[in-house]
Amino acid sequence: MSGFLKLLFRNRLAAVGAVIIGLICLVALATPLLPRADPDVPATADRFQRPFRPGHLLGTDHLGRDLASRLLWGTRLSLAVGVAAALIAGTIGSTIGIVAGYFGGRIDNVIMRGVDMLMAFPYILLALAIVAALGPGLMNALIAVAAVNIPFFARNIRGVTVGLAGREFIDAARLAGKGHTRIILTELLPNVASMIVIAMSTTAGWMILETAGLSFLGLGSQPPVADLGSMLGEARAALITSPHTSVVPGVMIFLIVMSINLLGDGVRNALDPRLRSGALTRPRAVTLVERRGAIPAADQKGLLNIQDLETQFHVGDRVYRAVNAVSLHVNPGEALGIIAESGSGKSVTALSVMGLVASPPGVITGGAVRYEGEDLLAATYRSLREKRGDKVAYIFQDPLSTLHPLFRVGDQLTEAIQAHHKEPDDAARARAVELLKAVRIPNAESRIRNYPHQMSGGMRQRVGIAMALANDPEVIIADEPTTALDVTVQAQILSLLDDLRRERGLAIIFITHDFDVVAQLCERVAVMYAGKIVEEGPTGAILAQPAHPYTRRLMACLPELGGGKRRLAAIPGLPPVVSDLPPGCAFAPRCDKATAACRAGEIPFDGDAAHRVHCLHPEFAPMEVLA
Ligand code: ADP
Ligand code: MG
Repeated sequence: MSGFLKLLFRNRLAAVGAVIIGLICLVALATPLLPRADPDVPATADRFQRPFRPGHLLGTDHLGRDLASRLLWGTRLSLAVGVAAALIAGTIGSTIGIVAGYFGGRIDNVIMRGVDMLMAFPYILLALAIVAALGPGLMNALIAVAAVNIPFFARNIRGVTVGLAGREFIDAARLAGKGHTRIILTELLPNVASMIVIAMSTTAGWMILETAGLSFLGLGSQPPVADLGSMLGEARAALITSPHTSVVPGVMIFLIVMSINLLGDGVRNALDPRLRSGALTRPRAVTLVERRGAIPAADQKGLLNIQDLETQFHVGDRVYRAVNAVSLHVNPGEALGIIAESGSGKSVTALSVMGLVASPPGVITGGAVRYEGEDLLAATYRSLREKRGDKVAYIFQDPLSTLHPLFRVGDQLTEAIQAHHKEPDDAARARAVELLKAVRIPNAESRIRNYPHQMSGGMRQRVGIAMALANDPEVIIADEPTTALDVTVQAQILSLLDDLRRERGLAIIFITHDFDVVAQLCERVAVMYAGKIVEEGPTGAILAQPAHPYTRRLMACLPELGGGKRRLAAIPGLPPVVSDLPPGCAFAPRCDKATAACRAGEIPFDGDAAHRVHCLHPEFAPMEVLA
């Protein structure tokens, strides 16, 4: 709650709105206690007094009644009616929406067609018709305004509910034996509650305005009782001769509606988790680069060379250090594995290479990424765009979310080809078929006309690989491409990548959390922990003689088929939170070898150029469990 308020008041306009509407509400609540003249007693001798007369701060109206007093009581009434109408419309409309969205089918159809019928009438005409049928009066105006706003809530909330009702957690609740009422109350309602609050806060001002409109026409509050609308209505005749009688209620309506709308917008922004994380702000085309230190001098190692890369996420005043001083390189025709638990910064490292980390909140704060000697972090957007997909291509983990659901896979492949090479359509199509064959999709000629949902997970992943191969890149960065697949498909995809590496001299950076995959595909491997490389070397050496305690622990966690009985040792503790990394070795709190020096400062790289380890107490003894 305090987090919500903090977010809300960070928005200046919302804060201004909250202060104004808060003051108005306070005065409205305190009105009966204030020593003011009776608002409804006429004093014809004092008609149309100007403002700032003794006893009449805001002057008097056409019957000599004190305007300030009428304004206070009128505001009280208008606010009460508007808020009541919003609550009634919100409750009834949301209930209708939830029921329609949750049950779906015929119930949904009947309810929503009824709502559509209500919506088919012009808003204010419908309200007028309702008041005409019920007779004028503030209560009837309230009913009319609430009724015409019900469809708005019903439609909005139904839309959100339909999306939620098909989700797995609702199925799970059903399987757990919960009844419809309980599912609606405990599963659905908490999820749509913020939507309801948002809809109410943004429409309350509008409803106050509508009630005032009805009163202005004489259909709302009846004389002598005044609300803001009827005050305006009564002042109409004297608009030119005594403008203050209209200005006073007019300004009040303006202030109320304005401040409620500002506050409502703020509430929406603060409650919507997507807006809150900044995800709806459009990220830039290239990750923001703000290098603080000196740019490392170029070393000639490798085709793609990452030096001391630092990538951070700046969210509010927190800094998440996702990647810290990572150095890696890959040669043509070589496969480099990056292995780590999830959350260690593998994906962020990979995305930083081509400037694909979303900014905001991502910022590259240090280091260099060189492709054939060119510093990619200093490259122009144009030059990066030419290289993305053409020189350096990505394969992502989840092919269902990276393929466009509404286009045939053939069209998506053709587009990937034509983005970099001006080829005629049929040549590009032929190339697409060829690519699908290269990734061993059977019946490539007919599969090319499939939509992503018509393919299995393994096939979609192959399409993802085909797309990465479309422009014959020099480097492929594969971010856990086989994690979602079963082992047979995984083995096929690994051997496919391996063939491509041999045939085309492709350099592969393969990100995974699986030592088996690394052993099958990669010549070299780098182990990451909390955004740092802790150990790097030839795959054989690292698998046989892991030197860093973390690598050893990680490998001791692996069960081995036919490996006999042994205890699988879990690593105690949890990976550190990257917004709050300890000084020194990030693994020290979980390491049984850690000494005071480990927790003090920077840990240098140890070992020879081939097998390096970031540890003060490395072990170079073979590891029996895996040897
Ligand atoms: P993985 O090794 O599983 O691929 P990632 O590279 O995706 O891990 O994430 C590395 C770290 O960066 C994680 O601790 C994650 O919490 C953090 N992180 C990633 N994206 C964001 C973001 N948009 N805002 C804040 N932190 C993030
Ligand atoms: Mg990842």
